[in-house]
Amino acid sequence: MQRYFVAPEQFRDGAITITGEDAHHAARVMRMKPDEEIIVCDGAGRSVKAVVIEVSPLEIRAKAIEVLAQDSEPAWQITIAQGLPKGDKMELVIQKGTEIGASSFVPFESERVIVQYDGKKEAKRIERWGKIAKEAAEQAHRHTIPTIESVKSWRQMLATIEQYDLALFCYEREGADAHGRGIAKAVREWKASRNINNEFVQDDVSPRILLMVGPEGGFSEREAVEVEAAGAVLVGLGKRILRTETAGLVGLTCLLYESGEMEGA
Ligand code: SAM
Repeated sequence: MQRYFVAPEQFRDGAITITGEDAHHAARVMRMKPDEEIIVCDGAGRSVKAVVIEVSPLEIRAKAIEVLAQDSEPAWQITIAQGLPKGDKMELVIQKGTEIGASSFVPFESERVIVQYDGKKEAKRIERWGKIAKEAAEQAHRHTIPTIESVKSWRQMLATIEQYDLALFCYEREGADAHGRGIAKAVREWKASRNINNEFVQDDVSPRILLMVGPEGGFSEREAVEVEAAGAVLVGLGKRILRTETAGLVGLTCLLYESGEMEGA
């Protein structure tokens, strides 16, 4: 069943309007007809099954017929903070991270970021990344679209660490000689320390977890010291060196595994 994300204001007492590219896609590509059923999400936690009433390339009008449970969203809110990578790797991280279950993405600058960050192009890039997240969320049958934050400086990144229940700093030096601190061990220690119950959610509040990944050139020793002082935990992702665009996806999957997400029914 086709799924569309619309702005909350396009949901009015059960009456739904789909506009823009989505309306054009529904009318022209999907050749949608009245009485067909679709799923509509407002990206802010509301999802309904709806029946199409009117179809035009400019606007689809539909009527909500059933509220749907948010059962495809992870119990933990996991943010991938990605050291700005070269080329279109960020698009790959956003697409795959959305499919797997990330809640948000924060691109950031660090000492060894190679790309020359151009603030003027930022709006365009954030818009493009947002489109990739929306399409990946629709394809993955998610109920929310992960947020894409604006590019943060290293200082700004450090300052956000305290906002998370757990901040993990993927440090490849750890990967090889993990000092016994692989990501699985670090997360289990945190769960034990925070009385996370067997639903892996503390007091019904979904924990917020930050996963920091370095750019192609990695992190410097100084950055590792600063981030640990800010309260983050240095973790390894196994004994191989992963590409920057791979590491966040591996860490995200490990976190979802530890959150109980992969237990199934
Ligand atoms: N220093 C790496 C090297 O020697 O090639 C380059 C950095 S690696 C390509 C990019 C980022 O992925 C790292 O900064 C780290 O955040 C993460 N990463 C890659 N492999 C890892 C591992 N085994 N353990 C922890 N983090 C890893």
